[in-house]
Amino acid sequence: MKTLLLLLCLLFSVPASAQIIPKISPKRQSLVLTWRDSIGQVVQAETSITVSLPYKHSFQTYHPPAIYKTWWKEIEKCTNLPISDASENAIKFYYVDAHSFYFDNLSIQFVGYTFAPTHRIYIVYRDITNPRIVKHEMIHVLMYEHGLPEGHPKNLFRDDCKVDHP
Ligand SMILES: [Zn+2]
Repeated sequence: MKTLLLLLCLLFSVPASAQIIPKISPKRQSLVLTWRDSIGQVVQAETSITVSLPYKHSFQTYHPPAIYKTWWKEIEKCTNLPISDASENAIKFYYVDAHSFYFDNLSIQFVGYTFAPTHRIYIVYRDITNPRIVKHEMIHVLMYEHGLPEGHPKNLFRDDCKVDHP
């Protein structure tokens, strides 16, 4: 019985995702994502912006809700940057079960993050139907598709589309 209790404690003290962190080759450009899970434990996952499905154990992919079609149309209009159906369909959405996440080399907390070159958008779960957050990330995709430099130009994010940082 004592052994069983000890085993249970060990199981509960290890965050589930810690056991399945994918091994990333040191040659690849990797980042460590850290966040608190739904019960407040700190979880870290090494990941990479170059490999396919780097986040599959840490983030859950989800099918974009129908409203996203409307939001793509709205941001195409307000930015005046059209996106092809192929590019739009290439975007994969992932949610993170956390209030925020951050990268180990940046001190900023994120509720959404876009890796446009690999067609991925990451959003905290509670904001996946928040137009302000989702459309903000979609604009990063449009800017990338049109060869614009990374950043948050005020004219696009604040003035034209009203999705500046909250
Ligand atoms: Zn942004």
